[in-house]
Amino acid sequence: PRSPECPLDKDELGNKTWGFLHTMAAYYPDNPTTQQKQDMKLFFNIFSQFYPCSICSKDFQEDLKVHPPNVENQKTFSRWLCDMHNNVNVKLGKPTFDCSRVNERWKDGWLDGSCD
Ligand code: FAD
Repeated sequence: PRSPECPLDKDELGNKTWGFLHTMAAYYPDNPTTQQKQDMKLFFNIFSQFYPCSICSKDFQEDLKVHPPNVENQKTFSRWLCDMHNNVNVKLGKPTFDCSRVNERWKDGWLDGSCD
């Protein structure tokens, strides 16, 4: 069996990275300052250049040009990230996620209480 402490493959890296990105979006401010909005756009610009998977990085940079981050507030930013993740899901032939429930998945837990 493969040791549990090995370099990340593309899927492990992706899963962990989405966990980080969606959680960061869950805790983005409801009323961000102009500086915070600017910095979050810059974060995605730099993130997309250095994401350590070349095809992912290339396609994500292209998608960012078409769909720049909506950094207005927590809700719009989490929704935007959900849509970006769904674009990758479609590209990979995975099911899309219902973005109306993105805060249940990554912030508040499911309404049925299964995360309590
Ligand atoms: P993941 O897609 O990693 O999702 C993790 C969890 O997030 C899911 O279990 C689900 O609960 C939740 N989720 C799913 N969709 C959404 C959504 N839309 N919004 C919110 N939550 C959601 N892999 C490639 O092979 N080619 C690529 O070009 C590629 N590009 C990538 C670009 C980026 C920026 C990132 C972060 C990853 C990329 N990946 C790419 C990896 C790929 O997206 C998956 O992470 C990987 O295939 C593992 O999938 P997974 O089944 O663990 O679920």
